Amino acid sequence: MVRYALRSLGRPDSPLYLRPLPDPAFVRWLWRFWRSSTPAAFRRGYTAIAELNRDTFDRFDELREAGVRTTLTRPGMVHAFLSAAEARRHLAVQRDMADGHYRLPEDVTIGDEARLLDDALAPGVRAAYLVEGEGVVDPEAFARGLGQALAASGVKVHEHTRITGFRTAGGRVTALRTSQGEIPCQAVVIAAGMRSPALLRLLGRRLPLQAGKGYSFSVDLDPAPRHTLYFGERRAVASPIGATTRIGGTMELSGSNNRLDWRRIVAVALASRHYLGNWFDDPDDLVTLIRDPWVGGRPFLPDGLPVIDRVPGHDNAYAATGHGMLGITLGPAAGHELAEYVRTGTRPQALRPFRFDRLYG
Ligand SMILES: Cc1cc2nc3c(=O)[nH]c(=O)nc-3n(C[C@H](O)[C@H](O)[C@H](O)COP(=O)(O)OP(=O)(O)OC[C@H]3O[C@@H](n4cnc5c(N)ncnc54)[C@H](O)[C@@H]3O)c2cc1C
Repeated sequence: MVRYALRSLGRPDSPLYLRPLPDPAFVRWLWRFWRSSTPAAFRRGYTAIAELNRDTFDRFDELREAGVRTTLTRPGMVHAFLSAAEARRHLAVQRDMADGHYRLPEDVTIGDEARLLDDALAPGVRAAYLVEGEGVVDPEAFARGLGQALAASGVKVHEHTRITGFRTAGGRVTALRTSQGEIPCQAVVIAAGMRSPALLRLLGRRLPLQAGKGYSFSVDLDPAPRHTLYFGERRAVASPIGATTRIGGTMELSGSNNRLDWRRIVAVALASRHYLGNWFDDPDDLVTLIRDPWVGGRPFLPDGLPVIDRVPGHDNAYAATGHGMLGITLGPAAGHELAEYVRTGTRPQALRPFRFDRLYG
């Protein structure tokens, strides 16, 4: 990954793009990222995430049973490749990492038959395999559904309310200072994405978070993919969300900002044509063809793992952030474990790898 990142320097059309920044915090983050990029650390982190993720679909089911419109469907994911060798390499790595914990096909479908796995695939796809049961949600609708279900069960949701500080006494947070006045609290969970470091700093903690910027947009394709499609060599994804297709990709380390670089949207769209066929002729047509072009920062700590823990020095303040590219997937599982921690005061075993103190070693 580190070699791959270095090769991408100065190439804004690369799936992983690193823009050197004269920012000491960014340099320190890169240094720690490099130090965390050993096979042993990667395997340890992967195991911890897999363990937390084990009950994810059960957690989504519980949310649905509790009245949340999760929007979850499980169409499965077709991993598509332009070369058979790359597909086989990818499947071998995935099988190794899955270590029998979830079902993967024995082999890759090669040649003309590969594109039969999904009608939307183009003739350029020379190898593919289907991972059954992989899920898709519409993240905005899911978040909205969660808010509505909470409100319906009597929870007061303060929308459009910015937290600006904390009132503390004796190592406890007693109230939130907000743009709408103070809100007294018994406990607080800081889960503010890329804004979490600023809030944690107010509680005396530094959090080395960097944004891995990604882009997505919606488009109506004919035929539309029935499965989620992963474009292997280009590391982009097309997901069926309702009747439309959402295409997303890129990992851009260029500081914590939400600047939308149109070249990256074009790069993702061009990459998708290798797998979906020429769904547009000229990049200039994209302006009218696509909807909701979006850029978001995936919150990353340098070892790639989230922090889901009590904030050191505060009895009733917690943090849940840094979920990187898995925040939607892991949200319900992380929330479930953290709720137990808040309620009982005892850290669940599954949260041990996500402690604060690992960051200050
Ligand atoms: C292109 C792209 C594709 C992705 N695909 C996937 C995927 O397939 N699967 C997956 O699991 N994840 C995916 N992710 C990652 C996922 O979106 C993130 O991990 C997730 O959104 C992080 O959630 P969060 O709640 O920690 O932060 P956020 O989603 O950033 O939410 C933080 C919230 O806190 C609020 N906030 C911030 N500061 C304050 C304040 N001071 N006061 C009050 N409120 C505040 C913000 O307004 C925001 O609503 C993708 C991300 C991108 C960019």
